[in-house]
Amino acid sequence: MGGVSTGQAQIPDTVRSFADTLAERRLPAYVHDLSGLREHTAAIAAALPPDVELHYAAKANPDAGILRAVAPHVHGFEVASGGEYAHVREAVPGKPLAFGGPGKTPAELTHAIESGVHRLHVESEQEAYRVAALARATGRTVEVLLRANPPLDLPGAGNAPLTMGGRPTPFGMDPPVLDRCARLLSDEPRVRLRGLHAHLASGLGADDLAESAARLLAWADTWAEGNRVDLRELNVGGGMAVDYRDPGARFDWPAYGKALGALVRPDGPVLRIEPGRAIAAYHGWYVTDVLDVKHSRGEAFAVVRGGTHHLRTPAARGHAQPFAVLARDGWPYAWPRPAAAGEPVTVVGQLCTPKDVLAARVPVPGAVRAGDRIVFAMAGAYAWNISHRDFLMHAPPTFHYLAGAGGRT
Ligand SMILES: *Cc1c(COP(=O)(O)O)cnc(C)c1O
Repeated sequence: MGGVSTGQAQIPDTVRSFADTLAERRLPAYVHDLSGLREHTAAIAAALPPDVELHYAAKANPDAGILRAVAPHVHGFEVASGGEYAHVREAVPGKPLAFGGPGKTPAELTHAIESGVHRLHVESEQEAYRVAALARATGRTVEVLLRANPPLDLPGAGNAPLTMGGRPTPFGMDPPVLDRCARLLSDEPRVRLRGLHAHLASGLGADDLAESAARLLAWADTWAEGNRVDLRELNVGGGMAVDYRDPGARFDWPAYGKALGALVRPDGPVLRIEPGRAIAAYHGWYVTDVLDVKHSRGEAFAVVRGGTHHLRTPAARGHAQPFAVLARDGWPYAWPRPAAAGEPVTVVGQLCTPKDVLAARVPVPGAVRAGDRIVFAMAGAYAWNISHRDFLMHAPPTFHYLAGAGGRT
């Protein structure tokens, strides 16, 4: 694919030239490479055994263009609110949706059931009661998975950036509660308990995640047998690692797919996974320009247009967002051009808070000067959509989609 490496990130030529030619008034800008995303998602699907179902977790990035690019390569989508449910249904009509998340409102559940949601992930005992009552009241059949917080030690979870299971959490249910839900739902003719769902940690490598899936399946088999549940499906969640310190690294999908394949049994449950970040992270870029460069007590700061109110990922995860500097020649002013050269640079945004840091003390080959552009990589997931965009009332970014063959929309 080619590209240049200035700073830490390798920027594909198509993105680089697009970022270079964007008019200044369109900055900051999010640029999404939809053809790259399509290829990436297709490769993930191809690495999975045919019996393993792939869902995309929409909360990673629910942009309609992204949902449509991913849709042909996934079985369905995981949504976590009534808002996502309505939005994804409209963006990719007809795709199966699994609706999970704690704290679903009665109105959200009613709408999901009345509109024939593909799967409901039940997260509490009260929710099981409510789903049963709604199925009776509406006369609709509902297919559910119970979200479990199983008593498992997860390999690698101690190092995972986020853990949602294997310890006290508001997500899912402990085994005694699961047992009660299984009994409660087994008496409901309009509720089909298809199996279990667990999303236990985010940021695990392929070996650890595969080992977690194996332990989960063994535990789920035992649980189902003890509760006389026909375990038809097991959703083992998302959480595939994305390494922001190494933008070229990828989760080992072939190894994970092979390990999942070894868990598939003819009489066993359908296995389903629901990654978000590892699908969407790599094909989005946040492009901006350097407004000023300053030095304070020996350290260099580059102040860019925009900031963490557009790209909250580095503030949320505590990393330096990988980036490349696009040098731009010409300085139209009579005064000296602010610059930092041959020294680490901290890239900050326009917000009046010391937390508005996109990358701290990063070595930059060459120089960073006012008027240069900066392209932040790995900005396709948990980026714009998790950002506190109204803080300080700066202008929003513009959005651009590279659709392949030089085309853009
Ligand atoms: C957030 C979430 C996912 C996706 O997690 P990633 O780390 O983005 O892969 C999948 N399932 C559930 C239930 C989630 O909450």
